[in-house]
Amino acid sequence: MDFSFTPEEEALRREFDDFFKVEMVNAPPQWGTSMEAIFGLDECWEFHKRTAKKLAAKGWLSRPWPREYGGQDASLVEQFIFNDVMGYHRGAGVDHWGLALLAPTLLVSASDEQKREHLPPIARAEVFWTQLWSEPGAGSDLASLTTRAVRDGDDYVVNGQKIWTSGAHRADWGFMLARTNPEERRSRGLSFFLLDMKTPGITINPVLSLEGSHLFNEVFLDDVRVPARNMVGEENQGWIASQMTSNFERSMIQLFSFLQRELEELIEFCREPVWGGTVLAEDPLVRHRLAQLAIDIGAGRAFSYQIVWTQMKGGLIVAAPLAAAAKVLVTELAQRLMYTGNQILGLYGQVKESRWAPLKGSYEKEYQLCPGLNMAGGTSEVMRNLVCSLGLGLPRSW
Ligand SMILES: Cc1cc2nc3c(=O)[nH]c(=O)nc-3n(C[C@H](O)[C@H](O)[C@H](O)COP(=O)(O)OP(=O)(O)OC[C@H]3O[C@@H](n4cnc5c(N)ncnc54)[C@H](O)[C@@H]3O)c2cc1C
Repeated sequence: MDFSFTPEEEALRREFDDFFKVEMVNAPPQWGTSMEAIFGLDECWEFHKRTAKKLAAKGWLSRPWPREYGGQDASLVEQFIFNDVMGYHRGAGVDHWGLALLAPTLLVSASDEQKREHLPPIARAEVFWTQLWSEPGAGSDLASLTTRAVRDGDDYVVNGQKIWTSGAHRADWGFMLARTNPEERRSRGLSFFLLDMKTPGITINPVLSLEGSHLFNEVFLDDVRVPARNMVGEENQGWIASQMTSNFERSMIQLFSFLQRELEELIEFCREPVWGGTVLAEDPLVRHRLAQLAIDIGAGRAFSYQIVWTQMKGGLIVAAPLAAAAKVLVTELAQRLMYTGNQILGLYGQVKESRWAPLKGSYEKEYQLCPGLNMAGGTSEVMRNLVCSLGLGLPRSW
């Protein structure tokens, strides 16, 4: 395994680095990469959209796509470098749902017409997406979802309810799974739709987090008419489309880099005399905790390299359990970092929006938000199940 990058890749890294260094200076004070700030606060959302436009103007949002749809056929390594730099700078402007989830799905499963209609607006940062999958009775067991789509002429008529729909209140479009075959109770009866969020019959209600922020929504669908041409893939084959994230960078490097930055700032704080002259970095317990985090983040980064290396060699199937393992590793590590940071900061860690709040009060917020990381996009238990069945060859247990 060769860890070095080519001179061209190093130049690209500097270019990304320069961009985010300059742009992130203008981030609103509440910015911190948490989805809750991006979607909950108007000034963060506006900043996110402005930065997205600048990234789009450089062609950086769609770099890994084929040229015919506005991409540059960028390699996995180049995308890895972009994600690495973006994560470290807590970068704005990347629509996670449109770019990381939907675009790869469309590239693999959509018709040419659908690709031409939906990919360029994502590349130009004109349209932002949301994911309408989970329901009150279907999360980990997504295949049991009950939202119904019934064919009526050129449309499907959709009725049901979605929940935990992140950023639905900001989104222009959503991608949705709905049941088109009621006889088939599991995944084979589902279809994958693209839904204009302005369609009559859609009601979006906020679901506020414990600490007051607005990321989540519940979305009610009452006789919503979706044109049949907005179905991706074939009827009742939506599950297959939903699993297609294909040849895209799946190493979680941006989150490991984000944690690296958080740790560096925590270490910096521990070096300075605080609270009557205490230098936290002189405390052996604090030092060992920081060292352990540094070891874990370093190991996580190496694991990310391994994933992208495996993917480059064409091991997309192999990379799937590795990606699931990386998700468990990075989200549980994020929790450890936030909990450890809060222990080190003591009661000051609970202070926000005050001159007494260490590190701009970020630990007060992150401490409350980080448990959600283990659930978003599939819980740690479900990810471990994937590692067992796809990676270790163990029989399925569910
Ligand atoms: C921050 C965040 C953002 C989200 N954004 C979106 C979004 O934008 N769109 C969307 O559609 N959804 C979203 N979700 C929902 C997310 O996909 C679900 O929360 C997740 O799939 C778990 O489903 P659930 O909450 O219904 O929990 P459940 O599935 O009810 O799970 C409850 C517990 O049982 C465990 N469990 C369930 N099945 C198994 C099993 N087979 N083996 C072992 N343990 C099991 C789980 O690990 C969990 O601990 C988001 C969630 C969070 C936290």
